[in-house]
Amino acid sequence: MTEGDASTFAATDPRTGQTAGPTFRDATSAEVVRTVEDAADAFPVLRNASSGERADLLRSAADAIEALGHELIRTAERETGLGEGRLHSERARTCGQLRFFADLLDEGSYVEAIIDTAEPNAEPPQPDLRRMLVPLGPVAVFGASNFPLAFGVPGGDTASALAAGCPVVCKAHPAHPHTAELCARAIGDAVVDRGLPAGAFGLVQGVTNRVGEQLVTEPRIRAVGFTGSLRGGRALYDLAADRPDPIPVYAEMGSLNPVFVTEGALASRGDEIADGFVTSMNLGTGQFCTKPGLVVVPAGDRGDRFVASLADAIDELDADPMLTPRLRASLLERVEQTMALDGVTVLARGSGRDRDGVRHEPLLLSVTAEDLSTTPELLEEHFGPVSIVVRCDGRSDVREVAERLPGGLTATLHADPAEHGEIDQLVSMLRERVGRLVFDGFPTGVAVTHAMQHGGPYPATTAPGHTSVGAAAIRRFLRPVVYQDAPPGLLPEELRDHNPSRILRQVDGRWTREPVT
Ligand code: NAP
Repeated sequence: MTEGDASTFAATDPRTGQTAGPTFRDATSAEVVRTVEDAADAFPVLRNASSGERADLLRSAADAIEALGHELIRTAERETGLGEGRLHSERARTCGQLRFFADLLDEGSYVEAIIDTAEPNAEPPQPDLRRMLVPLGPVAVFGASNFPLAFGVPGGDTASALAAGCPVVCKAHPAHPHTAELCARAIGDAVVDRGLPAGAFGLVQGVTNRVGEQLVTEPRIRAVGFTGSLRGGRALYDLAADRPDPIPVYAEMGSLNPVFVTEGALASRGDEIADGFVTSMNLGTGQFCTKPGLVVVPAGDRGDRFVASLADAIDELDADPMLTPRLRASLLERVEQTMALDGVTVLARGSGRDRDGVRHEPLLLSVTAEDLSTTPELLEEHFGPVSIVVRCDGRSDVREVAERLPGGLTATLHADPAEHGEIDQLVSMLRERVGRLVFDGFPTGVAVTHAMQHGGPYPATTAPGHTSVGAAAIRRFLRPVVYQDAPPGLLPEELRDHNPSRILRQVDGRWTREPVT
């Protein structure tokens, strides 16, 4: 990214370090206001559109993104350095995600309808109460740097907010402005094709904090979806809380994603776990929010052999491009700080950092459980291909590590089935700290499904009760309203007695798709 003039910028091709594509400029203050006003004006139409109409919009948006064809892949490749294969699969995931939310709307039960019929003879008498979820209003979405599509302009925040019936104003990540613009145009075309007001989706570009800050404080924005750094997410959260009318900020930030490996797992499949760990740690040059940043390994011969396998594999690896010069600079600074901490040793380091482009080599560091307990800085994320091995002498060391972990997105356990009785306490300690527990696998890869939870206690997110991936992501942009003794003709379809769409509702405490009789 070139930041000569504070308000103009272009992406950098991380493979070469050269400027890639056109120059963009910060949206002016008036442009931000207009985009938000257009979104607010579109809200009544979008919220009154049927679930089916919104499902059509999401499917049209997916079709339009696919229709961008190779131009989208080529542009994203130039702006991110991510390979064609990865971008093809990310596009498939992104379009699949849009269609997933369309299916959720077609099914209809996401409104969480709850009906308590009147009990006039109860003491005290109980009114007829009918509750469901309704959209919040215009949502500001901050696209992530590391997934230009799946967590970018057409990503999960946009898909779930539009599905909820909320117009979206997206702040493009400055690392890939052209990719953002292509996607925004495709979504904009889909909005107009479906006969919806153009303001239902808007894009603002920016490389300075001013644009994002203004967006979050615009009075007509009702919620924020964010994926990025702890510093950025926290700053926007504080700004939103300082508004005269505070609004929710669903910020998904960094995570350590510890992996615990037991003696039994090492005995039965140590080499396999080592291979999987190294692959997971280096996916996307380690720039995944779910990258395993810590691996907790027992002391002793098996542990030594496992750590030696990790080190041998990492020594063989080359430095791959990172996403932006800024991310690389932050990682270099962070690694330098870590290496200066007591007890940190280097176990393995890939090569080729100085080749063309914006690169960082894979790096494996080591500390003891005791070091970790006295040096909290070791528990901060390194955003890139860096992981720390923690050697533990016995179960109390492992518990000590688990107790010190900050809130995170995931924790992973590799254990032999014979050990399950011994690790239940560890499982319950880890459950307090993360949103997803992974067994005998690796944390990278977040499936878009009904049950997925991609979130966790602070500092992983600012809203531990929610997820940014999976069906429940829609819940962030909805709020409950209850109708008390409403005349039937004034009730939304979902709350009427006859339940024409046969959605799943709770009626007088019982889940059913049947009409109220
Ligand atoms: P970032 O610096 O937080 O930027 C994300 C977006 O927020 C950008 O559009 C940025 O715009 C905006 N922004 C950041 N701080 C702001 C502020 N104070 N006021 C207004 N807008 C602000 O994230 P990044 O560039 O991706 O940096 C990488 C870091 O994010 C990593 O260290 C990693 O920990 C984290 N990350 C996490 C995930 C995840 O999935 N949880 C994904 C990617 C990255 P401007 O640059 O224009 O200000």
